[in-house]
Amino acid sequence: MYPDVQLFIDGAWTPAAGGRTLDVLNPATGESLGRLAHAERPDLDRALAAAERGFSAWRKVSAYERSKVMRRAAGLIRERLDHIATLLTREQGKPLAEARGETLVAADVIEWFAEEARRTYGRVIPARAEGVYQLVIKEPVGVVAAFTPWNFPINQAVRKLSAGLAAGCAVILKGPEETPAACAELVRAYADAGVPAGVVQLVFGVPAEISEYLIPHPVVKKISFTGSTVVGKQLAALAGAHMKRVTMELGGHAPAIVFDDADIEIAAKVLAANKFRNAGQVCIAPTRFLVQETVFDDFVGRFVDLVQKVKVGDGLEPATTMGPLANPRRITAMEGLVQDAVQKGAEVLTGGKRIGNTGNFFAPTVLTGLTREMRVMNEEPFGPLALMIPFTSFEAAVAEANRLPYGLASYAYTRSAKTANAIAAAVEAGMMSINHHGLALPEVPFGGIKDSGYGSEGGSEAIEAYLNTKLVSHAAL
Ligand code: NAD
Repeated sequence: MYPDVQLFIDGAWTPAAGGRTLDVLNPATGESLGRLAHAERPDLDRALAAAERGFSAWRKVSAYERSKVMRRAAGLIRERLDHIATLLTREQGKPLAEARGETLVAADVIEWFAEEARRTYGRVIPARAEGVYQLVIKEPVGVVAAFTPWNFPINQAVRKLSAGLAAGCAVILKGPEETPAACAELVRAYADAGVPAGVVQLVFGVPAEISEYLIPHPVVKKISFTGSTVVGKQLAALAGAHMKRVTMELGGHAPAIVFDDADIEIAAKVLAANKFRNAGQVCIAPTRFLVQETVFDDFVGRFVDLVQKVKVGDGLEPATTMGPLANPRRITAMEGLVQDAVQKGAEVLTGGKRIGNTGNFFAPTVLTGLTREMRVMNEEPFGPLALMIPFTSFEAAVAEANRLPYGLASYAYTRSAKTANAIAAAVEAGMMSINHHGLALPEVPFGGIKDSGYGSEGGSEAIEAYLNTKLVSHAAL
């Protein structure tokens, strides 16, 4: 059973004050799954007032106690794994194995931040005068407005929510309207674990109406957004106008650079698996495969063989390895990008088309013969498109890798430690993974540079984003 999803305000699940609801659709069938409460101004006002009270209470709870509550939430998520993962697959489309993985990672993320809660150390700075103590203290920033998207309905939310709660903040989370139930289960786990009323609010509605109201609101002290660069820039500008702290986790167009001395078999296997995970709707998905020309045919041949083994279907079917795209907009986007590339001379090695007319299925696609004039070489596809591009020299690979304004994830494959060091230094990106896929673990930094945003959503950096630094200089008289 897929539930009707309500808002969570002041410790209670509640319909929207105006009674409005939205439909939630199954991307594998196009059928309605259930209804979602749609918040309006009075709901947001209640959420703000509750969050203000929640923050006053939660900031006084010791880090030790906060950490215990958070660990309980992680435990509840693990206990409810089957239920949560099934909801996630039904609303978002990803294969059940991926949904289970996402759910378990959420529990790991919560535990990481539960541990970090107890390590928000300040420091003591040696003073110039006897009897003076210069203390650097970390304090929670206050009420956070967090905006999370539909591609990882739990995992985009869990990082913001958990870092905020660990720091002692209260959070108003605007969850993903198209995939709300799994995100609501995350909030339920926190509520059932004993997070006091007002500390977590979950709302859904018209994203722009909610962000335009919450970001400037004086109760809100910190903004965190995951989504497209276009929207991120608008929200960062609004936050800037009101001097609010911001974390922006935006789009990418990740280069995966394969040198001629790489283990080509491993490179093809790991990169293909990560290209088509979540049907490519991943901000760190490898997209531009820059392959040294001497191994280009070998790599592309192996990659295409692997792509042809991808089993596209309903995520609830055990054999499925790639589900539908999460919404019909992505089908339109894939068709537009492929059509534009083909018109300008690209060759489709496999895929390139929608599959059937029911559900949002699109074939895993490999393109070659690409030029910089093609839209797909410049716009984030955010779908199952792999672009194969040969290069002749290290410098040429770096120039192409750094050509775009994005700078989120990057990948390289080489057996040479010298080349590995050089490419890690040369590529403009927030993250680089060499010879394996080593990104997005709770304990490592996660974030971009350039148009991919700023701030980190992983590692010890992530909790810093929810803390203010206060200096107390005390002369003991
Ligand atoms: P979109 O740009 O309309 O929305 C992206 C996300 O931002 C959604 O979650 C949406 O609810 C939210 N959003 C949009 N306008 C907003 C506003 N004014 N205030 C607050 N939130 C707002 O596009 P879409 O069709 O939903 O997604 C497509 C594009 O978004 C992709 O091409 C990709 O670049 C990007 N995206 C990125 C991520 C990521 O993990 N970085 C996740 C989802 C989508």
